[in-house]
Amino acid sequence: MDKLGFGTAGFPSKASKKDPLAAIQIVKDLGLDCLELEFVHGVRMRDDLAQDIGKLARKLGITLTAHAPYYINLNAKEQDKIDASINRLMQTARLAGLCGAYSMTFHAAFYMKDDPSTVFGIVKKYLKQITDRLHDEQNPIHLRPELTGKKSQFGTLDELCILSSEVPQVYPCLDFSHCTIDDPSIENDTTFDRNSYDYFAHVFERCKKALGKDPLQEMHIHLAGIQYGPKGEIKHLSMKDSGFNYTDFLQACRDFNIRGAVICESPELERDALLLKNTYLGLTPGKRKPAIAAVKVAAPAKKEKAAAPAKAKPKKKVLN
Ligand SMILES: [Zn+2]
Repeated sequence: MDKLGFGTAGFPSKASKKDPLAAIQIVKDLGLDCLELEFVHGVRMRDDLAQDIGKLARKLGITLTAHAPYYINLNAKEQDKIDASINRLMQTARLAGLCGAYSMTFHAAFYMKDDPSTVFGIVKKYLKQITDRLHDEQNPIHLRPELTGKKSQFGTLDELCILSSEVPQVYPCLDFSHCTIDDPSIENDTTFDRNSYDYFAHVFERCKKALGKDPLQEMHIHLAGIQYGPKGEIKHLSMKDSGFNYTDFLQACRDFNIRGAVICESPELERDALLLKNTYLGLTPGKRKPAIAAVKVAAPAKKEKAAAPAKAKPKKKVLN
């Protein structure tokens, strides 16, 4: 991808929920670059409409991503729930693929009190099955489990980096709101202030070491301000109200030459997406150099080519 674009999670607030084509035009008119199609409550769309969405987005130069339904748990105890989760992911991949989306994100699994390494193996097994099917269908969409930052949910930075290095067509979706603000429901990492340039740089550095340089050129990022209570997330806030250090985050994006889509999930959807874009455009690369402390990072692991998923060999876990 040739740049870092900014857009909204779902249609801009002034767009009708029933008119995706008008919503894409509004995104363009606002001066934004991306739109995330929200299939979070179900995957329903006519194929011909999906194709029209793809045509219009291409014509206007709008990059599309998708969010799969919330009701997904690849570590469910009942096989029918796992099968339903796989179906929802496949349906999202097919429709989002018809729309021309390059990437789709989802919340992969709950730990259900199981050992995280067991859950990792289960998630990996099912994602491999799904990417094999997508490969057979010649659907190149990226499957991106989201960085969740919750004790109950699969999706730490380590898990996502290892998974992405081992399964073709799988990459992380980095939700910085889920991992940066001082969320009391997650383990405190004392190495970094999670709302700082050094932490953002650390995350990009880690992805680069685990996945190679290319994934940084087609990232899928979520951002929102979040208000936390003792049990974790309460609600999303606007960028300015939240205290999220978006200027330093965007500076890290500049310095690491991050490309792809930054999807804003703030309640002030388009206003905050534009705030992010305009702030980013005003920054100069290299203004701040990463001042990363001695942090253990993984050795580079080569990404298998998506064209040959059947040959993907299990690799050693290289991250802590
Ligand atoms: Zn999400």
